[in-house]
Amino acid sequence: MKQRKYWLGLLIVPVGLLIWVILYYNQLTFKGKIGLVPLGQIPSGQVHWLKKEIEDFYHFSVTLLPRQPLPEPAFYRPRNRYKADLLLEYLQGIKPAGEDKIIALVQKDISVKTDTHEDWGIMGLAWLGGSCCVVSTFRLDKDHPAKAKFNERLAKVALHEVGHTLGLEHCSQSIYCLMNDARGVYPDD
Ligand SMILES: [Zn+2]
Repeated sequence: MKQRKYWLGLLIVPVGLLIWVILYYNQLTFKGKIGLVPLGQIPSGQVHWLKKEIEDFYHFSVTLLPRQPLPEPAFYRPRNRYKADLLLEYLQGIKPAGEDKIIALVQKDISVKTDTHEDWGIMGLAWLGGSCCVVSTFRLDKDHPAKAKFNERLAKVALHEVGHTLGLEHCSQSIYCLMNDARGVYPDD
């Protein structure tokens, strides 16, 4: 048993390295343009802060797009929140021709239909290798964290969703991987 753990431990290093190489490769090879759009009410300080975080991490410039209203057809009245997949379709429709990808930041809660739940609250959603992703701050703020902790969560979720649009899938080999599936839990530590 001990030996098995040893080999598993040895495996984590190359797998972790491989993930970072893939991530770095994507940072280097994405030469397109990405736009950040505030959807509905969201503090502009958060939007500006997130723009810089994405730029610093991925090393591509982000264009701040004009604020847009939340689309009424995406509103899910029974739970007072917005369907994230419908928000992605909406984003595809409003994406300026000059932008390759668009990330939306919302304060309202967002959700999707899953195999087991009709309406499952989430922190973010993206099309894998696609052009749109959305991040909600609603769940990041629920336990009223200190600003630094809130910002850390926001950065992790946003970089994760942008990673999906760059074609990165979920990883499970390391707790330190940015592309871990949060499964509704805060992306802390
Ligand atoms: Zn994900």
